[in-house]
Amino acid sequence: MFSLNGMNALVTGASGGIGSAIAHALAAQGARLALSGSNAAKLRAFRDELNDTYAHEHDGHVEITCDLGNQTQVEELIPAMLDTLGSVDILVNNAGITRDNLGMRMKDEEWDQVIRINLEAAFRLMRASAKPMMKARFGRIVNITSVVGATGNPGQMNYCAAKAGLTGMTKAFAQEVASRGITANCVAPGFIRTAMTAALDDKQQAAINARIPMGRMGEGSEIGAAVAFLASREAAYVTGETLHVNGGMAML
Ligand code: NAP
Repeated sequence: MFSLNGMNALVTGASGGIGSAIAHALAAQGARLALSGSNAAKLRAFRDELNDTYAHEHDGHVEITCDLGNQTQVEELIPAMLDTLGSVDILVNNAGITRDNLGMRMKDEEWDQVIRINLEAAFRLMRASAKPMMKARFGRIVNITSVVGATGNPGQMNYCAAKAGLTGMTKAFAQEVASRGITANCVAPGFIRTAMTAALDDKQQAAINARIPMGRMGEGSEIGAAVAFLASREAAYVTGETLHVNGGMAML
């Protein structure tokens, strides 16, 4: 069950904390990956790690460098994936940044950067994937949002707007393409153990854990498992949904 054999998957932000766990989960299930990010050296090292870790029948995972803040590069990403791998069966819009500030102090640039990378780039990649997926009568789109897109969070007007925007955009697209065998869903992580959260001191981590009924942060692999399910053929009847993976912190 949940085999991704024969599927090509594009993961943005693939060398990051959660992106790398998603890439591992998809590769473990047999998908061939196009790993994307802005840091070519990090991507190459991660590509080698994946190729060394999983036995596979395809010609190996590849990396495609792309700065999601650059509109031209974003428009070139899906064509590059099609040139290299021949299809885009799974698109995971995972890359994301934060530029936190209180609303009254937020600079235009902080707003623009977060909207451009977290929301607009995902729109462009979904738009570019639509045609090849419709032609193939198959596609899986998974957008990584956040619990704060639903709950809000002080200091993150830009980030919460982008994540809530992704949710609405996903639902609209899901309705447009449902009859063509394409699904579009979101996975909304709560607090996940990554380099960023590991840098918090014990007191800060304990304060976070106290807000989570499960009493711990999530693992990247737990996000990866949710994405692998939504990317599978077996999830064909799930669309426009958000799968919250947050240890019960917000039951939405
Ligand atoms: P991360 O470790 O900082 O990784 C972010 C990734 O985004 C990096 O791989 C980075 O790749 C890529 N990226 C950033 N700017 C980019 C740009 N201009 N062009 C292309 N790629 C860019 O973050 P993470 O914690 O794994 O977060 C992954 C996703 O989960 C994000 O959407 C985030 O909002 C969401 N999320 C995270 C948490 C959490 O607790 N960590 C909670 C809820 C939601 P390069 O370095 O190659 O540019």
